[in-house]
Amino acid sequence: MEHDIERVLLTRDQIQQRVREIASQITADHVGHREITIVPILTGAMIFACDLMRNIPMAMKIGLVTVSSYPGASVRSMGAKILGQQLGDITGRHVVLVDDILDSGQTLRAVAPLLLELGADSVRTCVLLRKDRPEAMSTQADYVGFDIPDEFVVGYGLDYDDYYRNLPEVVTLKREVYTRQGG
Ligand code: 5GP
Ligand code: MG
Repeated sequence: MEHDIERVLLTRDQIQQRVREIASQITADHVGHREITIVPILTGAMIFACDLMRNIPMAMKIGLVTVSSYPGASVRSMGAKILGQQLGDITGRHVVLVDDILDSGQTLRAVAPLLLELGADSVRTCVLLRKDRPEAMSTQADYVGFDIPDEFVVGYGLDYDDYYRNLPEVVTLKREVYTRQGG
């Protein structure tokens, strides 16, 4: 796995420090509320959400949602479809929706309104990474870990072909990885 890495964008320490900062912000913003619900978007946000939650010293429940992106009219226009959810009853609850990366923005734009429709009192959105492209920058996100260049990244939950999620850093992969046959 290590020899597939082209460049380390974010180290383990940088990520952990930023995760603690975001967790403090989330805690401060919900200080008046008795409890919250954290909703990671599977599978990419899993690792980020696990670290985040353990730095938020509040009563909380966890809800889960699975979303698929699919290409739309053009390569860069994507749609997002909710494939499944295990949210529990979020009526009247304060929800923090967590995703790994904000790219086209379709995912957050599809899921956040759904949570409000299901009765959530408030929905705040949190992403570890945001790509430097107009669609991402113009999508509402309450907490952003890092702004990164518009490149394909893996690690810390993000995958290529479902691999590399367990890398502790956020990295780019060597070009040859994408042209290799059969993984
Ligand atoms: P959206 O385009 O809806 O904002 O982002 C949707 C999803 O696309 C993200 O949750 C993530 O799973 C995937 N995605 C977008 N950019 C990248 C990337 O650079 N690397 C990886 N591994 N996944 C990405
Ligand atoms: Mg994903």
